[in-house]
Amino acid sequence: EKVDFTKFFHHVIDRFEMNKYEHLQFKRDLLAQTLWVWIDKDKIIQVLDNVISNAVKYSPEGGVIKLGTKVKNKMLLITVSDQGVGIPIDQIDKIFNRFYRVDKARSRKLGGTGLGLAIAKEMIEAHNGEIWAESEEGKGTTIFLTLPLMHKKRGDVS
Ligand code: ATP
Ligand code: MG
Repeated sequence: EKVDFTKFFHHVIDRFEMNKYEHLQFKRDLLAQTLWVWIDKDKIIQVLDNVISNAVKYSPEGGVIKLGTKVKNKMLLITVSDQGVGIPIDQIDKIFNRFYRVDKARSRKLGGTGLGLAIAKEMIEAHNGEIWAESEEGKGTTIFLTLPLMHKKRGDVS
């Protein structure tokens, strides 16, 4: 269905903020404009939930989670950044594999199955988008997601 991603993303973040992770802060750096995308809302909510939940789970006390949108090459670029433990460079592509978890001991304590990002990747690719990660150990992680923007046709009113 046709969705204004700006409005939609604000709603998703609002839900996280209502949960009041008392030790965390959410910071929005979203474009103000309307950004039309054609998405399965439930699936993209699941993608964003998985990615933001990771940012929450792997953040330190007092961490800031930054959420952003940009437009690049006719694609919507979504970023979710945290100041958490980070991911070793040699494992950064593996985190999107099913059941892959960095540092078994650490991850077991925090819980999870290692499926969140594999599901996110599957769903974002089904929308002709991409997902990747950049990270620095001990500094934090940024997850990048893209989604195709809908073209404006001549004569469209909005
Ligand atoms: P699940 O999402 O199924 O509950 P999970 O969070 O362990 O479990 P994924 O979301 O698929 O699984 O993530 C895979 C692994 O990637 C995690 O176990 C963790 O080691 C690493 N990871 C993911 N996101 C982050 C992040 N923001 N910071 C640090 N490590 C991360
Ligand atoms: Mg997860």
